[in-house]
Amino acid sequence: MDARIASAKQALGSDVVILGHHYQRDEVIRFADFCGDSYRLSQVASQTGARYIIFCGVHFMAESADVLSREGQQVILPDLNAGCSMADMANIAEVEACWEQLEQLGIARATLPLTYMNSTAAIKAFCGERGGLVCTSSNAAGAFRWAFAQAQKILFLPDQHLGRNTAFAMGIPMAEMAVWDPFMIYGGNSPERLRSARVILWKGHCSVHQRFLPEHVDRVRRHFPGMQVIVHPECRWEVCRQADAIGSTDRLIKIIADAPRGSSFAVGTEIHLVNRLARQHAPEGKHVISLDESGCLCTTMFRISPQHLCWSLESLLEGEVVNQVTVPVGVKHWARVALDRMLQVQ
Ligand code: SF4
Repeated sequence: MDARIASAKQALGSDVVILGHHYQRDEVIRFADFCGDSYRLSQVASQTGARYIIFCGVHFMAESADVLSREGQQVILPDLNAGCSMADMANIAEVEACWEQLEQLGIARATLPLTYMNSTAAIKAFCGERGGLVCTSSNAAGAFRWAFAQAQKILFLPDQHLGRNTAFAMGIPMAEMAVWDPFMIYGGNSPERLRSARVILWKGHCSVHQRFLPEHVDRVRRHFPGMQVIVHPECRWEVCRQADAIGSTDRLIKIIADAPRGSSFAVGTEIHLVNRLARQHAPEGKHVISLDESGCLCTTMFRISPQHLCWSLESLLEGEVVNQVTVPVGVKHWARVALDRMLQVQ
């Protein structure tokens, strides 16, 4: 399989660029031309001359790559079943229903919708059309400050944990945050609660990062004195508040890279990245483990197998584009507006 992938990739040359998300499995990521987080990868791909962008990530990432792509570029997701549990927790019909209820209560006009990068293009477009924007885990605090300069309230989609961690770090008390459950009238809140909330958090989460628990931090503190606990802000607030540092995937990577020899870390993020960091930094005498000893796997990203990558490449050689991800023109426009607005808050 490795030989077939390498041969097809070589034959396609600069016509194809392969993107590998940090959480991707090793057998696939070894073929990536670029490795990184979803936004940076989409940006990089649009700057290449490649006609075909093969995104070894999940569906919303391929959509973002299509939104940011240049004319003539086509985006391929090797397995269309590679979705994201968090992005799937906010569909556009549910979000529109939420907004209608906020309008009925007279709250919508004081609210800006913000969405995390990990959302569908339709949700990004929804935010763009209503004056809001997209943020990443690196710039969520900047996005919140930007939004509060123009509105009294934020509707944050779809990750309640990133929203809560960001708002709390800005000094917003829990009493001024409400959680919107899309399966309940008014999201399960009273109108008064929604009127007094400054941040309305969509009830979504990442099935990987939500598995880390405060008990895991306790275990590390007990068994590995001196080990630093560093976690992604998609983890629960109860875990983040006990951690030594919180950061985006890129920040977690940098913390470990910049640490002196002999440092040790328990990392609260996806297991493929943690294992890779452990291997990479072992020669420097750094000890890196997963915060949860049973490890947390992004099972949907794991669906991108060498077989799927091989099939995508060999199909291109035969003149066929398989599993292309395209965002409709109208959605693409407003999603692009929301993504471009994010650049104001870097
Ligand atoms: S790690 Fe979580 S947020 Fe990231 S792609 Fe997987 S399910 Fe989605």
